[in-house]
Amino acid sequence: MPELPEVEGVVRALAPVAIGRTILKVIISDVVIESKAQGKEAVIKGMTTDQFIKNMVDMKITDLTRRSKYIYIALQREGIEYLLVSHLGMSGAWFTVNSIDEIVELKFRRHIHVIFEMTDGGLLVYSDIRRFGELRLINREADHPPLLKMAPEPFDDQACGYFLDFALKPKYAKRAIKDVIMDGHVISGCGNIYATEALYRMKIHPGRKAERISLKRKKELFNVIVEVLQESIDAGGSTISDYRNINGEAGTMQNRLEMYGRKNCPACNNETKSMKIAGRTSVYCPRCQR
Ligand SMILES: [Zn+2]
Repeated sequence: MPELPEVEGVVRALAPVAIGRTILKVIISDVVIESKAQGKEAVIKGMTTDQFIKNMVDMKITDLTRRSKYIYIALQREGIEYLLVSHLGMSGAWFTVNSIDEIVELKFRRHIHVIFEMTDGGLLVYSDIRRFGELRLINREADHPPLLKMAPEPFDDQACGYFLDFALKPKYAKRAIKDVIMDGHVISGCGNIYATEALYRMKIHPGRKAERISLKRKKELFNVIVEVLQESIDAGGSTISDYRNINGEAGTMQNRLEMYGRKNCPACNNETKSMKIAGRTSVYCPRCQR
């Protein structure tokens, strides 16, 4: 599942080629149309496919940014502003091409769900193999309240204090630290991969209760999370399963992960263990992490 660095990779690649262009036509896959007709919220959220198409036509892309694991695509038509919020789910991917044939990886080409035909003839394509991604068109962020409940960006000055406050709340203090740092209300954009790495670097057992970690260690842990996220952004993200930034390009952070997906600990060579925390597989070294 793409985490913050992967979404940042998409935004950095997509923004320069998408901003300033205008949508001429929108084509939605039969799979999504049929699924939506049955009342399911497949990919397009909060409106029918017809409404979505009607709303998107003639929109100009004025900005494209990241907020946590969401891509915010600012749009404008006749002076009115809109926001298309894109979440990549498990396997969402964006492509900017002149024809569909340019999408060489078949698994992406076979699962194209939305094509935005631009006025300049180019295509902005959204592919999603597992269809857990979301495209939600709203007027402003406040129209979708869950977006306002996200923790600050981890790189913002107030983010560490925000995390420390939350970790002390009764609701969080008794939970496993890994569960707490992966909660988007507490820290923005730290998913399974980077939580696993940060806890390994800090030699903290993922199942340790938040209240059993000192304030000083929690601060250090926060700084290590930011460090790991930044390292991954610099490496173009981790290419794990179906993540690509845009146009099928891949990052290299997966080569630098020391614990995620490892069978042996690189420090002591002991076999790693795994446990389920908040429904996610958590890998750790039973010797190094306490
Ligand atoms: Zn070890």
